[in-house]
Amino acid sequence: MPKFIFVTGGVLSSLGKGILVSSLARLLKGHLSSLGKGILVSSLARLLKGHGVNASAMKIDPYLNCDAGTLNPFEHGEVFVTNDGFECDLDVGNYERFLDIFVRSEQNFMMGSVYKTIVEEERRGGFLGKTVQLIPHATNEIKRRIRLAAGVTGCDVLFVEIGGTVGDIESEIVLEAARQMKFDGKHGDVVFVHLALVPRIITGEQKTKPFQHSVKALLSRGITPDILVARSDEMVSEAAKEKISLQCNVRKEDVFCSPSLKNIYALPLVLQEQGIHLNIAAKMGLKLKKKDLKQWTALVKKMDALAEKGRKVSVGVVGKYATMKDTYMSIFEAIRHAGLANGVCAEGVLIDSDDIESKKTDLNGFDALLVPGGFGSRGVEGKITAIRFAREKKKPLLGICYGFQLSVIEFARNVLGWKDADTTENNSRTRHPVIDILPEQKTVKEKGGTMRLGAQKTLVKPGTLAHKMYGANEIWKRHRHRYEVNPDAIGELEKAGLVFSGRSGDGRKMEILELPGQCFIGSQYHPEFDSRLGRPEPMFNALVKAALKRV
Ligand code: GLN
Repeated sequence: MPKFIFVTGGVLSSLGKGILVSSLARLLKGHLSSLGKGILVSSLARLLKGHGVNASAMKIDPYLNCDAGTLNPFEHGEVFVTNDGFECDLDVGNYERFLDIFVRSEQNFMMGSVYKTIVEEERRGGFLGKTVQLIPHATNEIKRRIRLAAGVTGCDVLFVEIGGTVGDIESEIVLEAARQMKFDGKHGDVVFVHLALVPRIITGEQKTKPFQHSVKALLSRGITPDILVARSDEMVSEAAKEKISLQCNVRKEDVFCSPSLKNIYALPLVLQEQGIHLNIAAKMGLKLKKKDLKQWTALVKKMDALAEKGRKVSVGVVGKYATMKDTYMSIFEAIRHAGLANGVCAEGVLIDSDDIESKKTDLNGFDALLVPGGFGSRGVEGKITAIRFAREKKKPLLGICYGFQLSVIEFARNVLGWKDADTTENNSRTRHPVIDILPEQKTVKEKGGTMRLGAQKTLVKPGTLAHKMYGANEIWKRHRHRYEVNPDAIGELEKAGLVFSGRSGDGRKMEILELPGQCFIGSQYHPEFDSRLGRPEPMFNALVKAALKRV
């Protein structure tokens, strides 16, 4: 039977619960041995598929949305897409990157989908005669989904991250389900880790009162935390730990610290130094193997050294949400991974596409440019200007999804001379709809979960840059779009020199583009989701390599 570690948050959100969960899971992955035979078999099967881990993670978002697909990326950050096509919270991207796994759709859910399941069941007559209530109906559904996630991952220990902050009305029922799971299980089956802020005030003192209050809030919901983690700008003092311990009724040895770090990948190591995995293992009766995070440590050290005194490569990311880096989280991480693999410190720098239009930003200042995914007309012209600049000045460029589509539009406008070339997403009356709606999307009415989603097959054309990059004839990459290169325009675009070096399995949809003789590349899919520390995604690798040649 898998065991569960619930992770809750207090005082405020955005404290880095996702990173904490990923780090703890990463740490345990390096230390845990298999607990049971059945699990061992499932784990081995997963291992053979290249996905096997013992510790895995899931996230529950208490919002009434059904998934993250309809959330504004400016407020909530990037929408991450699983291979099996679920639009989820950006923390899932951290689970993938830290654990080097492919997360399944069962590992993230929003409460809207729980309520939807229950209400639909009620309409079907599934509860005939019964009053349908949050307890037990919603709690049972939550518990069922948590166990399902553990089942599909075949893990021994599942971290369950509860979104939001203890005390939020929306998360009450999730906490109640978590409380019940501890009550239902055997001793050590369920552990609660609570993360809350320890702010430093102007006198320099670390204040623990908000932390104490958030633990009280947890206690009042019937949950006694087993382990406390203080989120702070620096390591918390022993005095602060003692205060937390005394006031919160948790032994001092079980109070840990998650300090602000320049490099998030260092957190598993910072936690390891504090020995948190030993305490978790002791509480849950887990056997730890003597296995350290050697490779991880080496990568983190190299990254830190490069950040100190390595060559710098700056990639201008032309976004329309230019104040919110989280909107493009996986892209920024993928740039870092590619830098590390090339022995440089590569960083993404957000550029507001409006500033390109108004000429406030000098694109010469970047070593490479990247135009990410997006929707709608705002910011489009600035992105097209950036693409034109990259094509004409031979500045390395990577266009992703919308960026790929806009590269086609730029080429049609300025090379083919089709001045009104556009996407029908923004201009349904253009005479040159070089980007048009996918045929299967024409009848789609509902917005949620209806795009072309998840991993799809791409056939890579031999003899192209893409083929050299991937070293494969066939790749599977994640998608999230409704529009595509118009099949009627492909002939003319190719005649004018644009190369479509990747196509969908049926040969119909254009998936990768490139221009010979320069690093002008783009993909309809999202390569950023597949990038890992120590294993950069080939598109990003090519971009950074090309940028380096010019630095
Ligand atoms: N808006 C475009 C489409 O729907 C691109 C989507 C994206 O960049 N994710 O096809």
